[in-house]
Amino acid sequence: MRGVFVTGTDTDIGKTFFSAFLSFYLSFEEKLTYFKPIQAGAPLDQDFVKSICGNRIEYRNSTYLLKKPASPDRSAFEENIEIDLSEIEEGFKQIETPFTVVEGAGGLLVPLNKDQTVVDLVRKLEIPAIVVTSGRLGTINHTFLTLNALKNQGISCHGIVICGEEDPELEAYFQDKLDVPVLLRLPHFEEISPEAFTNFIEKNHSKLQTLKTTILEDKNPAEDHTKLQDKDKKFVWHPFTQHGIVKDHPVVRKGAGSYLYFDKRKVIDGISSWWVNLFGHSNPELARSIKSQVDELEHVIFAGFTHKPAIELSEKLVNMTRESGAELDKVFYSDNGSTCVEVALKMSYQYFQQSPTPSKKRFLALNGSYHGDTLGAMSVGERKGFNEVFTSLMFDVDFVNPFDLEELRSCLEKNGEQYAGVIVEPMIQGASGMRMYSSEVLDLIEAKKRELGYLVICDEVFTGFYRTGKMFAFEHSGLRPDFLCLSKGLTGGFLPLAATLVSDRIYEAFYNEDMRKAFLHGHSYTANPMACAVASKTMDLLKTKETQEKIEQISQWTRDCLANLEGVSGVSNVRQLGTIGAMEINGEDPNYFKGDFAYQVMRKSIDRGVLLRPLGGTLYAVPPYCVTKSELEKIYETMKDLITKDLP
Ligand code: PMP
Repeated sequence: MRGVFVTGTDTDIGKTFFSAFLSFYLSFEEKLTYFKPIQAGAPLDQDFVKSICGNRIEYRNSTYLLKKPASPDRSAFEENIEIDLSEIEEGFKQIETPFTVVEGAGGLLVPLNKDQTVVDLVRKLEIPAIVVTSGRLGTINHTFLTLNALKNQGISCHGIVICGEEDPELEAYFQDKLDVPVLLRLPHFEEISPEAFTNFIEKNHSKLQTLKTTILEDKNPAEDHTKLQDKDKKFVWHPFTQHGIVKDHPVVRKGAGSYLYFDKRKVIDGISSWWVNLFGHSNPELARSIKSQVDELEHVIFAGFTHKPAIELSEKLVNMTRESGAELDKVFYSDNGSTCVEVALKMSYQYFQQSPTPSKKRFLALNGSYHGDTLGAMSVGERKGFNEVFTSLMFDVDFVNPFDLEELRSCLEKNGEQYAGVIVEPMIQGASGMRMYSSEVLDLIEAKKRELGYLVICDEVFTGFYRTGKMFAFEHSGLRPDFLCLSKGLTGGFLPLAATLVSDRIYEAFYNEDMRKAFLHGHSYTANPMACAVASKTMDLLKTKETQEKIEQISQWTRDCLANLEGVSGVSNVRQLGTIGAMEINGEDPNYFKGDFAYQVMRKSIDRGVLLRPLGGTLYAVPPYCVTKSELEKIYETMKDLITKDLP
């Protein structure tokens, strides 16, 4: 939907006057509708606009026509109704003209109901704003506050319009200090009429031309999209991509809640953007935590210095792992899933090098594992797929089949004493196709641990933070990690950050006056303060009752959705763990190198309004926790349609 939301620094500032002018002016170029969703008291603003624009434009009646001229929440309360923004959104969506001028009520922070204000309405309608201001005393203050309120909510603003007498100094001040343009000064008119507006338009032709281009610039978002795609092709190399197969990448311009927006489309992010997103795209609370941190301290070297966001986050992470039954005491930061695994491998290796048993040097991993793309992380991962070419660069690792308990037992009994570490993705191997294996594997690794003396590395880069229904996936078993690797959801999907948690026993083995015994590993952006701040807020949100209840609900909804897929022709091995649902596409060779297949499925799912990205022959969903029941149903219905209708 294209349009503009006309808001003001105050009531009676000239919003209706400007809306009428704008509608009149744009009507020469564009078919449009004027819509004032909430009208409190008479006379009706729509009548005024009608008196100017007549039948040059369309009108959508107010969703809420309230009698009392007071703030909308109060007038609604007196009539025993509650303003529901979804109703307004519904009305807005029914508008048939290509453009809409929406006029707000009062200023941005005017309450509409118990919890929401006008700014929430602007966000909901997903259109840019124009702020009408005046030359009155206090204008500068009100204008800055209003623009800040828009900025804080991530709402784009075309600029401001000043209603009132000429004031070149004020205009110059705004032009200089604001980061949005002054689009227009609309003087008082002796007589307000179409003729007077036409005269004004003729006299201010060039200024108005800019206003028009600014407001209608996204007239053809597809054109802009294509231009950007061309540049992307020219300058960018994408990860995990065969550019000979994938020729064009959708240019995502916006993310909000469960949705991603590109060209004219909007899709549900069914995979939480590579499993990182927890509470929806551009979650305002998480966004705010970064905004307030960025003005305090953006970054500082973490070797030799510390800061509050890292300290607070560390305390929260340690407490959370303790609540989950692990005994972990210290947090070592890095910046992605591969590096936190790399850290655990190096730490466990060095731990034994400076212990009485330096012969413990090997690692045991599970077939089908994926732990990242750096050389160490690749070494403990499955080598048949995309890592194969690097095999000769990797160190030697033992692998066992997670679906064969006896193989694991005999391997541990035979080689267990040589192991520095045993590394697992607990309960579910994500990248190799959401392979869910029995908790007995983890129980056996735990049972043999004391006797054989190895350290256990739990890579919960994917499984952490309730994806599997529990805070950490190891909680489904009796296994307790010596190293816990976390990333992805750690920052709610906002910034790159990773953590490797260890016990004091490990930490103390490095604690010495000899520099060589320190863990000499670090990344420039270790414990970035903005990333720690947003991670800290993410941990707070995870612990709320609402989140806990939502995770339960998503698990239940997933169960119901998957039940509808059982027995569907073309589908097999339907499975679930917590919020993760997966299935195999029958007859599809689960060969990663068939990149074209995954790409075709992704394109088709996007055409159906959902982002899905199969892993070989596995279709799966890892939804963000803001997903609604109907959105989740749409994700799984899309899988069904893909398999039963779209795939040959
Ligand atoms: N471990 C696991 C279990 C993963 O799923 C991933 C990424 N999919 C990684 C490690 C690597 O994380 P990153 O891509 O952030 O390096």
